[in-house]
Amino acid sequence: MVKRFKNAPNTGKNSIQPKIIPRAEHTISRDHIHRNALKVLYRLHNAGFSAFLVGGCVRDLLLNHQPKDFDIATDAHPDEVRKLFKNSRLIGKRFRLAHIVFGKEIVEVATFRTHHENISQEDIAKTHQGMIMRDNVYGTIVDDASRRDFTINGLYYNIADFSVVDYVNGMQDISTRTLRIIGDPVTRYHEDPVRLLRAVRFMGKLNLNISPETEAPLLTLSHLLGKVSPARLYLEVMKFFQEGATLPTFHLLRKYHLFAELFPAINECLTQPEAIQLIENALAETDKRVKDSKTVSPAFIFSVLLWPLVTKNLEKLRPKKMPLYVAYENAIHHAVKDKTERLAIPRLLLVSIREICLLQFRFTQRFGTRPYRLLGHPRFRAAYDLFLLRQQSGEPLLELTTWWQRFYEATEDERVTILKEVEKTIPNNKRKKRKKKKTEQVQ
Ligand code: ATP
Ligand code: MG
Repeated sequence: MVKRFKNAPNTGKNSIQPKIIPRAEHTISRDHIHRNALKVLYRLHNAGFSAFLVGGCVRDLLLNHQPKDFDIATDAHPDEVRKLFKNSRLIGKRFRLAHIVFGKEIVEVATFRTHHENISQEDIAKTHQGMIMRDNVYGTIVDDASRRDFTINGLYYNIADFSVVDYVNGMQDISTRTLRIIGDPVTRYHEDPVRLLRAVRFMGKLNLNISPETEAPLLTLSHLLGKVSPARLYLEVMKFFQEGATLPTFHLLRKYHLFAELFPAINECLTQPEAIQLIENALAETDKRVKDSKTVSPAFIFSVLLWPLVTKNLEKLRPKKMPLYVAYENAIHHAVKDKTERLAIPRLLLVSIREICLLQFRFTQRFGTRPYRLLGHPRFRAAYDLFLLRQQSGEPLLELTTWWQRFYEATEDERVTILKEVEKTIPNNKRKKRKKKKTEQVQ
């Protein structure tokens, strides 16, 4: 069964026969589809348009994963979608999309779009290296399927008869859990190098095998990431943190030299086993949090990634004999600068990362009111987690972490006693100096 859709130009590809997997032969049930997505699908269908769930949600439903969101593809033009849904708005410069808004939730509806091969030279803008800059021409469902990245992301769930429509042999790859790029791998990675990162993300998140042809260029094309904008790289890296699979993904990023492209300066520190240990411990914790439906803090993960670099910078500053706090500030400043070369990390997030790193210094300060002030700091919890992880990963901090654990868990009265004990451990001459300083401050 091949259907011609209203708005689709004839590309000559419409003779391609899809595999139609009837409802009885696949596992997608409407019970697992969000009710807002169902509403949108039905309204499009009842208005005479074709309407499909597509992409990640179909893949996730077939693999028994909870989809993050439900994307819809249709032959209705964006203006027609806009007319059909009062609660919609059109977005996107590179390609017009409709967002149907249900309170805080959004269902995205995209008109079928064509692959760049089918577009005239005026309509497509590519750089001389073959990267697509603009591709805003509508097409058929066949075109739409062939421009998607991986076969498992190119499946359509048809609301008209609840079947799965497969133009790219994605069902076969779902059943063998294989990641396979659609079309010629080298060309497709060149068109959009972010697909290198997406490959690794899906492998890590869904525990997939990768087909040899899809894998081979991964090892040789990592340098293409240098052509991707820092803003887009940042968004892609943020997706890694939310999947509950940061640890396997970290290993894959390293295996395919992508980590070195994203974080060159941090990568150089990974010759140190303690650095790897720290990152692995933190990522394992992060994945556990996601599995327990707890929130993860990108500032914390970035601080962990950055810490080996901060340590390296601190070592370099040691011979300069500057006050420890100044050394920390310096080391952190340079580490953050190195790291943000490739990724456009927003300013507010950078402030948090700096704070978490700088608070590491304050764990060495156990006198007077300082421990209380540290406890009350908004970033205390993230900084404390990093501090404990540093000790668990081999830094010689056992005495300090034990003290802090005791102080953190103590009652108010116990804390007073703990602090008095610390005061007693200060050598006499230092105590006098501190007292003198205090009196000067009071005067
Ligand atoms: P996730 O579960 O992380 O959202 P996803 O596959 O849904 O995974 P999205 O970024 O939401 O990822 O994209 C939705 C769909 O759009 C994909 O499944 C794929 O079909 C297509 N797509 C996204 N990015 C690309 C790309 N860079 N190249 C080609 N197709 C893409
Ligand atoms: Mg998605």
